[in-house]
Amino acid sequence: MKEYKLICTNCDESYEKETIDFRCNHCSEPLELEEVKIGKINDGNILTQTNLERYQDFYPYLTIDSKLNLNEGFTPLVSSKALAKEYGIKNIYFKNESQNPTWSFKDRGTVTGVLRAMNLGYEKIGTVSTGNMATSVAAYGSKAELETYVLVKKGIADEKIKPIAIYGPRLIEVDGDYSKLYDKSLSIGHENDICFINSDAPYRVEGYKTIAFEICEQLNFEVPDYVIVPTSAGGDVRGIEKGFREFFNVGLIKKVPKMIVVQAAGCSPIYNAFKDNKLVIDRVMDPDTIAHAIENPYPPSGNQVLRMLKRNGGLAIAVTDEEILKFQNKLASLGLFVQPASATSLAAIDKLYKDNIIGESDRIVCILTGSGLKYTAALDKHELKAHGCKLEELNDYIKKVGK
Ligand SMILES: *Cc1c(COP(=O)(O)O)cnc(C)c1O
Ligand SMILES: [Zn+2]
Repeated sequence: MKEYKLICTNCDESYEKETIDFRCNHCSEPLELEEVKIGKINDGNILTQTNLERYQDFYPYLTIDSKLNLNEGFTPLVSSKALAKEYGIKNIYFKNESQNPTWSFKDRGTVTGVLRAMNLGYEKIGTVSTGNMATSVAAYGSKAELETYVLVKKGIADEKIKPIAIYGPRLIEVDGDYSKLYDKSLSIGHENDICFINSDAPYRVEGYKTIAFEICEQLNFEVPDYVIVPTSAGGDVRGIEKGFREFFNVGLIKKVPKMIVVQAAGCSPIYNAFKDNKLVIDRVMDPDTIAHAIENPYPPSGNQVLRMLKRNGGLAIAVTDEEILKFQNKLASLGLFVQPASATSLAAIDKLYKDNIIGESDRIVCILTGSGLKYTAALDKHELKAHGCKLEELNDYIKKVGK
């Protein structure tokens, strides 16, 4: 079998696949697994087959261990022709990632990251996160019976920390500059034999390819024109784009969709650089948005996302908190309750429509990255109430309000 190497996304330096480093020694930019050029989808019944078994050819460097699987992936693609009509486009689809084992797409990258750690013989894994990635790594660490370290910022709220703690990881609240923790975790990992699976770790990014694979299958290989991805660190959008590229390489699809990176206006380092035609991102000094899951002020894959967008022909946009809440509500009216970060994807369609970027022949996929139940505090931002009524008056009341 061909030996797959890791390649620097910026300077093309290559690294042996055994490295657990994320970044290039020369230019500090993210590493990425070489593109897969030959492969097919394994037939089988998706009720009995796991996601990675189906797409095994696209993971030639991973040995699948059924002990790890929590049945991630195979999430629904929900179409909304009625909404598409409002925007005068052909169709809108929602890839509902809230239907993963820990209610966000992170599970897809956690499973490949943890598998890689197991394949390399690690008994300890870790991550730096206060949100969905922490929950996901804690869950898979437990399933794989690995010692799992989750590093969070000191002082985070109970409602955030307890859903991580329930899985039983070694949860450490770190007192200090949280933005230094990503780099620090890598040196701590080396010293203590802990395989860190952070936001844009190469084997995590690989896991996100299956979102693209499934979309291709769900649309009978007629790929959409655009895929909209709520973006923070940049791991998800990189993985999805790579997935489409690999299906293109093996001849399963005829084109690669354009990627739309959407960020919250209160923290949009990638969008800021994109709009000013810059090649590198600047740190956002005072991030402030309700979309906490995409509030990374200095995304580790930010520069690579800019390079990727250039090659792909895609674009970056930003949406305000007001728009995020409006479209969180709109999505719920379609039966889809997602967290604020995920609602940015539909807010992005509204923006693309107003800017005349999308047209009548376009088909668009929004990635609904995580569940609305992850952040119920957002419910307080909406005007939601129930009506009271006495039992004896119920019949009359219903007659009165009904049509
Ligand atoms: C992690 C996350 C994102 C951003 O993904 P990145 O890979 O960091 O760009 C978006 N939405 C939700 C709900 C997330 O948990
Ligand atoms: Zn490099």
